[in-house]
Amino acid sequence: MNLSDKLLNKEKLNDFIKALKKDFSVLLPVKDGNLIFFKGLKDGIKPCFDYSIASSHPLKSIFLPQREELFRFKIKKNEIEILESSMNDEKRIIIGCRPCEAKGLTIIDKPFLEWQPRDEAYLKRRENTIIISILCPEPEDTCFCTSLGYNLEDGSDILMIELSGCYYLEVLTERGENLVKDLPLAEDKKIKEKEKEILTSKIKRHISINSPIAFDNPLWKEISQKCLGCGICTYLCPTCYCFDIADEKNSRFRCWDSCSFSYFTKMAAHQPRPEQFQRYRNRIMHKFSYFKERFNEFACVGCGRCIRHCPVSMDIMEVIEKSGVRSQESGVKG
Ligand code: SF4
Ligand code: SF4
Repeated sequence: MNLSDKLLNKEKLNDFIKALKKDFSVLLPVKDGNLIFFKGLKDGIKPCFDYSIASSHPLKSIFLPQREELFRFKIKKNEIEILESSMNDEKRIIIGCRPCEAKGLTIIDKPFLEWQPRDEAYLKRRENTIIISILCPEPEDTCFCTSLGYNLEDGSDILMIELSGCYYLEVLTERGENLVKDLPLAEDKKIKEKEKEILTSKIKRHISINSPIAFDNPLWKEISQKCLGCGICTYLCPTCYCFDIADEKNSRFRCWDSCSFSYFTKMAAHQPRPEQFQRYRNRIMHKFSYFKERFNEFACVGCGRCIRHCPVSMDIMEVIEKSGVRSQESGVKG
């Protein structure tokens, strides 16, 4: 199928969204206090497209909720009856997420959909959701997406680019094409490349990632000395997906967990990562070494949220630089 880029007049945005709402639940970035959440639009509330990535609630929560019930059960003497939870199969469109968040979903897809058994609830949400991302108006001083080697189009069905008076819609998939077939064609395709170049040329932070990073680099203790183990970096990260499963009353639920927490790996008789530097090392090595070995890409999209929000100013770029450079010096392979 030939995919054709389209133009959407800004004045027609509301009509476009209204038309989509006939068949889909439409989620847009909406300001709530100082934060951006993806929500259904209510009367009188406007979508906010010029938000900062650092202030937006991670998109992963729409596909992997912070807490979700997996099933309910009844215990009858020696038997357990499982009561399946019904899966929400509403068709959704997300409009206005950042390209790095859309890319982040393709990273989470790998363990959830490529490994067996697949995660059926996650799969259903992914299949039922169309993603229209929007090119960032400006990068932030913590962004380093261009260092990770992915394309700005990855993970989106349509990439929106704001121009004066209209949005350029770069159509990337067939299901994206079906949404915009009635809109006028974008004749000048050079505009999209120019806009992407302008944006990427403004990104100031770059890093070359040396892999593998040495597991037994003696500098890990020093590098991660400040880490409090609060887990903020993992909860906000668009690619962190660790979870825990527990029972409460008659319900089995799954909730986000973090490799930064001291109880994350604690077992009845053993704690394989008793010290914080071991937990922090695991986070970095998982993203830049283990995940890469398994899936041939890094589990980081360079959104910079973890840098922005760490309460003790841990900077993942500095950490990668130090751990990678020193691993070569010490000649130890991870
Ligand atoms: S946000 Fe900072 S202090 Fe908290 S776990 Fe992450 S690196 Fe450690
Ligand atoms: S590790 Fe940090 S920079 Fe990388 S994707 Fe996660 S939050 Fe963003």
